[in-house]
Amino acid sequence: MTTPLSKEIAALIAAEGPMPLSRYMALCLGHPRYGYYMTRDPLGARGDFTTAPEISQMFGELLGLWAVAQWQAMGSPPAFRLVELGPGRGTLMADALRAARLVPDFGAAARIHLVETSPVLRAAQARTLAGHADRVSWHDRLEEVPDGPALVLANEFFDALPIDQYVFHAGHWHERRVGLDDGGRLVLGLDPAPSRAAPAFAAHLLPPAEGAVLEHLESGPARALSERLRAQGGAALIIDYGHAGGYGDTFQALEQHRFADPLAAPGNADLTAHVDFSALARIGRAAGLRAFGPLEQGAFLARLGLAQRAERLKRDASDELRAGVDAAARRLAGDGAGEMGRLFKVLVLAHPEIGLPPAFDSTEEWVR
Ligand code: SAH
Repeated sequence: MTTPLSKEIAALIAAEGPMPLSRYMALCLGHPRYGYYMTRDPLGARGDFTTAPEISQMFGELLGLWAVAQWQAMGSPPAFRLVELGPGRGTLMADALRAARLVPDFGAAARIHLVETSPVLRAAQARTLAGHADRVSWHDRLEEVPDGPALVLANEFFDALPIDQYVFHAGHWHERRVGLDDGGRLVLGLDPAPSRAAPAFAAHLLPPAEGAVLEHLESGPARALSERLRAQGGAALIIDYGHAGGYGDTFQALEQHRFADPLAAPGNADLTAHVDFSALARIGRAAGLRAFGPLEQGAFLARLGLAQRAERLKRDASDELRAGVDAAARRLAGDGAGEMGRLFKVLVLAHPEIGLPPAFDSTEEWVR
């Protein structure tokens, strides 16, 4: 299908040659006029995908309690930045703030900072968080959030950041690029020259087999986050679908809850890649932070009291509501197909003086 953006991308390739996957992803998701996130709210049953906070209020509530405990572990600073990266509709933050009312000093200390590039989703966040309007501000990048210790939440944010891919062929890594076929359609191909950057990205992995695919997440945002936390204090809770390193092609498109061809309709489908948690942990540790996890989302939510919270919500509820609460808890924490408990993982990056993050034990520190 041609889209306004596919024409623009084809013209760029015709003028400048095939483009790296990261450039293609950045254009598809973030092009100011036609980018996927710039033009729509993709969440929910009528959108392209559903996220944990949209499944149940329990998710944001438990993360709010985690944030309170982490703030207390930091010595309860009287002023801090509660930051969310890619807050979607603002649902997670609203649920977290409601649960955190149990500890009024936390709410009084928190200034809320939403890092969001999409004007459509900023408007949705403003509606959801209308009750907190006096203390919420928006930023395009984390680097714009004012100084101070920070607690940073990121659910399904890193999977939306651009990646590059390299394919191992005849003893060398070659960058995968988006080019044009004879009919002028977008196609994936390989840069014929061996990549100079890729060998360093693969240095910590086993020797690759012919055809192996290596993915590399642009490290800028994770590095900026880590350096800020190291310099000014705080911790980040990162939740996403992903893995702990290795080879494999996870670049995918989702349209109306189905997998689609990532080249078929630029700007109209969500493009993502599974998050390499080992890369995030290494970036955090290189900046001087401690890294914990990745822990499976199911285990993490169970430790924070998912079962107890579900029981509380079911008390005095109708049979239909009770069944809904149970179904939501299973979807968030179960390990079956279509459930998020195992597929999604939780990583914490924390300033070294803070100690163990809530819900983690000392054997779960990432030290590789
Ligand atoms: N955290 C939300 C939404 C996940 S979708 C939830 O769990 O429901 C990804 C979010 O990241 C959206 O809000 C999207 O607009 C935002 N986003 C994507 N790329 C971004 C970027 N480069 N900078 C800031 N926000 C971005």
